[in-house]
Amino acid sequence: MSNLAELSITEAGEKLIAGEITSLQLAEACLAEIEKREGAIHAYLEVFADVREQAKHADERRAAGENHPLLGIPLAIKDNILIEGRVASAASKMLENYVAAYDATIIQKLKDAGAVFIGRTNMDEFAHGSSTENSAFGPTKNPHDESRVPGGSSGGSAAAVAGCMALGALGTDTGGSIREPASFTGLVGLKPTYGAVSRSGLIAMGSSLDQAGPLTRTVEDAELIFNVIKGKDTLDSTTIDEETYPKRSAGKKIGVPRHLLQDGLDRDVLERFESSLDTLRAGGYEIVDVELPLSGLALAVYYVIMPAEVSTNLARFDGVRYGLSRKGDSLFEDYAKTRGEGFGPEARRRIMLGTYVLSAGYYDAYFGKATSARRELRAEVERVLSSVDLIATPTTTSAATKIGEKTEDPLAMYLLDIFTVTANLTGNPAISVPMGTVEREGKELPVGIQFTAAHGDEAALFAAGKALQ
Ligand code: GLN
Repeated sequence: MSNLAELSITEAGEKLIAGEITSLQLAEACLAEIEKREGAIHAYLEVFADVREQAKHADERRAAGENHPLLGIPLAIKDNILIEGRVASAASKMLENYVAAYDATIIQKLKDAGAVFIGRTNMDEFAHGSSTENSAFGPTKNPHDESRVPGGSSGGSAAAVAGCMALGALGTDTGGSIREPASFTGLVGLKPTYGAVSRSGLIAMGSSLDQAGPLTRTVEDAELIFNVIKGKDTLDSTTIDEETYPKRSAGKKIGVPRHLLQDGLDRDVLERFESSLDTLRAGGYEIVDVELPLSGLALAVYYVIMPAEVSTNLARFDGVRYGLSRKGDSLFEDYAKTRGEGFGPEARRRIMLGTYVLSAGYYDAYFGKATSARRELRAEVERVLSSVDLIATPTTTSAATKIGEKTEDPLAMYLLDIFTVTANLTGNPAISVPMGTVEREGKELPVGIQFTAAHGDEAALFAAGKALQ
């Protein structure tokens, strides 16, 4: 039999149900790949010691008659998602030894379904970044070219799946952190509608922007995981249910904001995008031009609102309640020492930016303006999505960049998020689906196409993704 670690979740699930393979064999296949590649890739911050026990337990549940499609499927979990009794560090020194006291709601749901957790994956510290180079524990490498980044901030999750060290993974997406690494590693990555998936038990970055979602090899797999983790949750008052947004009839009209596809977009990425549109046309989709004049502001709006929320969410790490604690001669010194030592440079940069835009005297000029612009942007996207079913752009302007290429220039790093931040600001669901590869220095590097749909219309994303696949 071919390598079990290369199967899609759906294929593996069918084999498990048919009794052709066991969960233990699947887990062993992933552990064997970890043995081979993890030393070079560094997708994981920890591979759990009890993977085989979890897999055996899944096999017992199946023997007892359970049949969930995720039962016994090995998944990798981003390190900002709490699993009771295990460390959740968000790749930060601040939480290096923090043991989660409870399960995130999405973890509870995956446990109920019987998924096997292989380990917790590397990420940019507190999910701040687009390359996984901001981890306090060293970068992750892209399995397609180890001199390149896997994208971020869910880069460890992406590398684990792309490197066959898990069959699927969970990531979180505040401004693109599922979709961008999916694009850079040839995977499918879904950022659900804001509120579709509970945030209870996620280590918060930007609470009005964060959503957890799957990174998988196929659209079917992403849909499968989404259907398991979604749903209203009493522990997260922002969660929505099936009735929150009106049901839309399945349409096949795609809008392309061509005015955004200019400066800074690699030519061959644009070519892959155009040929993906051709494939969609052949699949019965109609492609039309749309205008999103405010999208040009999205990045600026995001980089005001996000740090404001980051500075608020990171205020709880004070050396008293959670994680790292350093003592000085006064309470102020305790804070300064703990926070100075616990947070890396990017987290500190965002705390300062966020504190600045929220401070009296600057609030109206920055945060207030960004909030109104965000409202306008949401209205604009809603207007466009009343005449088309989907908006398509490339997910990223280029293929994976070199390790170290953008670390000295935070602004250049921020520019990578140009196509992804809008969906977080507006709450719309968006997916990245592979659209082929481009050649860089003799290596074929994957790139992705992004679809954005109306609130609650993940079905349209899956349909377009499948048409392309
Ligand atoms: N790259 C973006 C940032 O650095 C998005 C991060 C994310 O989605 N977590 O803010």
